[in-house]
Amino acid sequence: MTAAMLLADLRGRGFTVESADNKLMVRPSSLLSEDDRQRIRKALPGLRVALHAQPTDHTGGESRPYRLAPPDAEVAHAEPWDDGAIARFQARVLRIQRRGFGEQDADDLAERLHLRDVHADQRVMCLECRNLSGTLATGLRCGNHKAAVVMRDLPAELVTQMQVCPGFVEVDQR
Ligand code: SF4
Repeated sequence: MTAAMLLADLRGRGFTVESADNKLMVRPSSLLSEDDRQRIRKALPGLRVALHAQPTDHTGGESRPYRLAPPDAEVAHAEPWDDGAIARFQARVLRIQRRGFGEQDADDLAERLHLRDVHADQRVMCLECRNLSGTLATGLRCGNHKAAVVMRDLPAELVTQMQVCPGFVEVDQR
């Protein structure tokens, strides 16, 4: 497998591959198998060349409003993720996608939630609340808006924000 093929393979499987400060970053690194790691190590110089020849992310260069800044991404992946963190991440990605977010945005938002967990930050997102219903296409709604002191209809900007909400009820976590 050439470096370009390896890059396409990783991106096709949902990994983000970037080069920053002369370091290659593959995220979420905790989901890489040992075989992946060996292939990346062997293809490192070629991967760097392939990266410069292709768009930054596998969405073809679309904007990624929820992507963590590199220093935050480093914190989020500083420690290996245990099985629980991986399962939570995967469940969150699926849940966020069910609200109509694309795969990359769901991935980026789930990474934000993981970083929130790392920091033991007590704030929450509507995307992990049992009272949220609807999708981006049909409109997102809060089923507990009086307690939450918000309008019933919620814009995407609000459901993706970390916040303290008195009406929040956590969805079942795996
Ligand atoms: S209760 Fe709060 S966190 Fe839950 S959906 Fe409504 S506004 Fe969002």
